[in-house]
Amino acid sequence: MIAGGTVHTPDGPREVDVHVADGVITSLGNESAPAGARTVDARGMYVLPGAIDVHVHSRDPGFPKKEDFGTLTEAAAAGGVTTVIDMPNTVPAVDAAGVLEAKAALARAKAHVDFGLWGLVRSGTTPDDLELLAAAGALGFKAYLGYAFNVTRKQIAYSPELSDSDLEPPPDYGTLARLAPAIARLGLPLAIHAEDPGILSAFRRPLETYADLLAARPPEAEAVAIAAAAEIAGASGVRLHIAHLSSASGLAAAKEAIRAGAPMSLETCPQYLWLCDEDFARVGTAMKMFPPIRTSADRDALVDGLAKGVVGIVATDHAPHTDAEKAASLDEALAGSPGFQTLYVSCLELAHRQGNVWLAPRWVSEAPAELAGLQESKGKIAPGYDADFVIVDPNRPTRVRAETMRSRQRHGALDGMEFGFTVREVYLRGAQVAGAGRRSRRTGGRMVRPARR
Ligand SMILES: [Zn+2]
Repeated sequence: MIAGGTVHTPDGPREVDVHVADGVITSLGNESAPAGARTVDARGMYVLPGAIDVHVHSRDPGFPKKEDFGTLTEAAAAGGVTTVIDMPNTVPAVDAAGVLEAKAALARAKAHVDFGLWGLVRSGTTPDDLELLAAAGALGFKAYLGYAFNVTRKQIAYSPELSDSDLEPPPDYGTLARLAPAIARLGLPLAIHAEDPGILSAFRRPLETYADLLAARPPEAEAVAIAAAAEIAGASGVRLHIAHLSSASGLAAAKEAIRAGAPMSLETCPQYLWLCDEDFARVGTAMKMFPPIRTSADRDALVDGLAKGVVGIVATDHAPHTDAEKAASLDEALAGSPGFQTLYVSCLELAHRQGNVWLAPRWVSEAPAELAGLQESKGKIAPGYDADFVIVDPNRPTRVRAETMRSRQRHGALDGMEFGFTVREVYLRGAQVAGAGRRSRRTGGRMVRPARR
């Protein structure tokens, strides 16, 4: 039983006890717990549903030096993320059912939190591939527009030399249009990395300054990709999910498409909501990522989109690299940042500033559960739901410091920032997975699959 806290329930915040049996919430109410049941004292605390992070890069299998599924999920737990949905660009990339099954087995052996898996859309993918991936448990598909595929190394190629004979061309709008009806029939979402490859290649340049990075990946690349993919979503009925929305123009294009009826969800990340180009002088290559963190006007537009509910989901795009890979020049540093331990606290701070702290669990838990097809078991504190809780101290601030990060890469884009909330304890299906008093470091993460739609 979690006793005495202010609980985020589907009916709003309530001061109520949460009763749990066998990892599932049995009731909310102030009746006494059965004799012998463990009681967690949450007086003065918020009790929130565990975050479901729909945009995660585990690096495992493929690059365990950057991160493996064990360090990944310990860091996730420490930040209040009780379910990670891992992107398919591990190596081998998750483009077939057998690869997904092998990755699931590896993850199951190491996972401290629950996990789900995205499947990959290549330009060579067939509807049969998608059907088999879905049967193996893929809860959606991701297409990386503009990223080629090395068929020998089974790896997405980030800087493709197109003369390389091992490369299959990147998925394009034709690929999306060809596969969208099959994905729609499976009832699963199609997520895209939305930067138009033609625009990116027209503006490619050496990155000497942060202004070069912004010029090389202009916001119209995002807006054009969103508008084109939205046409395909509208025609096929597939649920389109825009990963890591980064620009005011991208948001405007998405709003217009949604108004015209395109089935679409929008995700952004804390780094786009808290940082802008002016922060580069302070933060350096820790904030290099694709799409880039843009101007203060872009940041403010995204915060506004979130406040108005147009942007529904905040995910991390947790994408660690080694310190050496991030310490290189702006041109050579790899793109990405770790993010789990700043997700919940930064969203609570943002929601608090918007006048309603209870919006945060909608952004990081309830709306992501719907996207992932987990809305019947996760994302809410209600009877019958998994007992995935985050106990947050609303009176104790967190300063983001590399020393307290659990991910293998400790330096992130939000280093040095302070948020007015602290994740105190985290529970996965009733078992404590982070915080003081944790009794076991046993790995108990399970694979999640989407409910039938
Ligand atoms: Zn990503």
